Amino acid sequence: MTAAEQTIAPPKVSNKKMLIGGQWVDSVSGKTFESINPATGDTICQIAEGDKADVDLAVKAARKALESKPWVRMTGAKRGRLLYKLADLIDANRAELAALESLDNGKPINDAMNVDIPGTANIYRYFAGWADKNHGKTVPTAGPYMAYTRHEPVGVVGQIIPWNFPAMMMSWKWAPALACGCTIVLKPAEQTPLSALRIAELAQEAGFPDGVVNVVTGFGPTAGAAVAEHMDIDKVAFTGSTAVGQQIMQAAAKSNLKRVTLELGGKSPNVVFADADIEMAATHAFFALFFNMGQCCTAGSRLFVEEPVFDQVMDAIKTRAERQRIGDPFDAKTTQGPQVSEKQMNTILGYIEAGKSDGAICLTGGGRVDRAGYFVQPTVFTDVKDDMKIAQEEIFGPVLSAMKFTDVDDAIRRGNNTKYGLAAAVWTRDINKANKFSAGIKAGTVWVNCYNVFDPAVPFGGFNMSGVGREMGEYALSNYTEVKSVVTALGK
Ligand code: ADP
Repeated sequence: MTAAEQTIAPPKVSNKKMLIGGQWVDSVSGKTFESINPATGDTICQIAEGDKADVDLAVKAARKALESKPWVRMTGAKRGRLLYKLADLIDANRAELAALESLDNGKPINDAMNVDIPGTANIYRYFAGWADKNHGKTVPTAGPYMAYTRHEPVGVVGQIIPWNFPAMMMSWKWAPALACGCTIVLKPAEQTPLSALRIAELAQEAGFPDGVVNVVTGFGPTAGAAVAEHMDIDKVAFTGSTAVGQQIMQAAAKSNLKRVTLELGGKSPNVVFADADIEMAATHAFFALFFNMGQCCTAGSRLFVEEPVFDQVMDAIKTRAERQRIGDPFDAKTTQGPQVSEKQMNTILGYIEAGKSDGAICLTGGGRVDRAGYFVQPTVFTDVKDDMKIAQEEIFGPVLSAMKFTDVDDAIRRGNNTKYGLAAAVWTRDINKANKFSAGIKAGTVWVNCYNVFDPAVPFGGFNMSGVGREMGEYALSNYTEVKSVVTALGK
């Protein structure tokens, strides 16, 4: 199948169990929950509703696998081969995985085919290469001793992921953990469990031993909280909202001081100087916010435009927003699907109302799309003030807040006027402005004359309340290893 031109039939999906210790099982309670198609509001299928009891079983299976011969004795090279195989299986099943992603999340099928699934396979492939290269050092000492370090797997890791890029967020968590020899209990988002369950099946097919990867489906306050609180989980990795990230860190602190990495929200400043290639900057400013229906943690949600080119940039963005093809995610011509859930849609509509009542000017959009499903009009606000709700809080929807700025110092000061610090971008032909902005802005990633450029080798994470730790790249490995120092007396 190629999604290039035609409308594709959504896949038929039957009810789903969870993967624990190599077995596909119902929840201990026998409960299930509905996975909803956000484009229609219809139920796709029933999913096993795991909670604490299921997390306990999954942790036991992961602990057993961590200490079992097939995994303990497996060389890094062999772990790497399994990861390469999983990447190949994801490529081979690209059309099916993309369709599951579109069905469950609502993203346009072409995005799922061309961005999510190939990007997912690439992450596994990148970390496959690290599996036999993450080793310690010999360390010179003052006395008659030999000291060396070992990079040991941190152990059983709990991973809690969001719904915006389900398969890709799973790969950011699974790939480094498996490369480092950890075992996993994954809790996918309740809105989008389907691709995680299918990729877990592919991991079995690739040959990962039973219990190395476990998937417990269920809700955040029950299954997710059980992961964060668990006494026998050595590390928790979370991507999601800042509020839940804070709860997870508290639960980790109160339980067993498990290691914590968090990838949280953002309110990223995207800064366009008048000397930039304006056509290019406007095009990218549009995608920086509206890609994936605005449901990106890096969304360029605060657009700062230098005064002389403000109207030109806003005209270009308005034109693009009004050209969005909103509709069925399985129609290959669709460029904007629904928001992931009714709750999320209502939150976004609430922010739109706040923008209007706070006095921002709604240049285009400003409401729900009149059709079934959870669709929101692409919305652009101008005359936004730095302290308005729509300039301070993460909206996670197709709502852009645009502001004018005067010079590079103004851009840095106002860009940093947020509790977040995930990403930022600057558009200019002046290298000095670009360098000054890149050094002054508090963000884990700065894009210069580009936006949303990700690479498995480039680390990603947040300053401030956007997170703790880095994913991707070599830096990710340290989150999944403990460093052990071994000091041996050399004798006479
Ligand atoms: P959103 O509000 O955008 O859905 P969340 O941060 O609530 O984002 O969700 C991200 C992930 O965190 C999901 O897998 C969700 O189930 C999980 N989650 C939500 N609440 C908790 C919690 N209290 N403890 C652990 N995980 C949670």
